[in-house]
Amino acid sequence: MDGIKRIRLANLPTKIERLDRLSEQLGKNIYIKRDDQTGTELTGNKIRKLEYCVAEAVANNCDYLITCGGIQSNHCRATAAVAAKLGLGAYLVLRGNEDASVEGNLFFDKMLGAEIKFVTADEYKYQRAEIMEGIKEELEKKGHKGYIIPEGASNGVGSLGYINAMEEILEQEKEMGIKFDAIVVTVGSGGTYSGLYYGNRINNNSATVYGFNITEAKEHFQEVVLKLLKEISQYTGKEIPVAKDEIDIIDGYVGRGYALSRPEEIEFLSYLAKLEGLILDPVYTGKTMYGLVEEIKKGTFDKHENILFIHTGGIFGWAEDQRILLR
Ligand SMILES: *Cc1c(COP(=O)(O)O)cnc(C)c1O
Repeated sequence: MDGIKRIRLANLPTKIERLDRLSEQLGKNIYIKRDDQTGTELTGNKIRKLEYCVAEAVANNCDYLITCGGIQSNHCRATAAVAAKLGLGAYLVLRGNEDASVEGNLFFDKMLGAEIKFVTADEYKYQRAEIMEGIKEELEKKGHKGYIIPEGASNGVGSLGYINAMEEILEQEKEMGIKFDAIVVTVGSGGTYSGLYYGNRINNNSATVYGFNITEAKEHFQEVVLKLLKEISQYTGKEIPVAKDEIDIIDGYVGRGYALSRPEEIEFLSYLAKLEGLILDPVYTGKTMYGLVEEIKKGTFDKHENILFIHTGGIFGWAEDQRILLR
């Protein structure tokens, strides 16, 4: 990706570890890529995408990052952290109530100095683009130049971060002397999956990239990914031919809904923490790992031997609503 601007912010490469006891129990080699270790304040997958978005913002002389997400958005917290680190302003549009308890990511958003506008679920769903445009105009009147990053930094430029991650994985395979035949990742807004998918294809790699959706449904994300693959190609100059049914999204693990947990999910995460010394998050990676284990038991992964799970972060998402489910 020559000529595409990037600001290096994440701790890279992130390590890949084998989960020995889980592997033994499932009869597969389960590896995990620690993208939760991209940074402390920056933890998670969003920083890989922000490296490209923020570079574009800075190149355009913008001094404010404007973005949006749920009240416990990891993406918004990472954006707030990057803004503070680079001396920029951050303005977050959060879906949720002003009176919500100030914990987890929201707490850090505030510590990091982000300005916040709370909106209702309907405003978020139907008007968030206009709301962010409105904020940009307001900032302009005060002499600032805002740069709008969409939800999850899932657009063409943001997704470039995961093409890069795919290339990192291919390097690590060589060093480790292993070939991953399945790569498993959570799908929330789709940019991470799209970048990995594009990177896999453009490098003629033979792995299958599986996404587990933790909101919406499979069809929705197949469309989202097709759109993002097009947007990516506008940056790279190379289109990859892909049909909708080639986008491997595994549905069925949304559970009670976005950011809502079921007791069996939390119990599984507690079990895994004790088994491997590994803490996943309840909103994204936890549901995906729960789903992966179920699907391995069902036989969906019978043709795969070496499975790489991407730990996309989310540690600050352990809010009171999830914590109380742990007995
Ligand atoms: C945002 C997020 C995801 C999903 O990534 P998308 O690119 O939005 O699909 C997965 N895990 C965590 C912890 C996240 O914060």
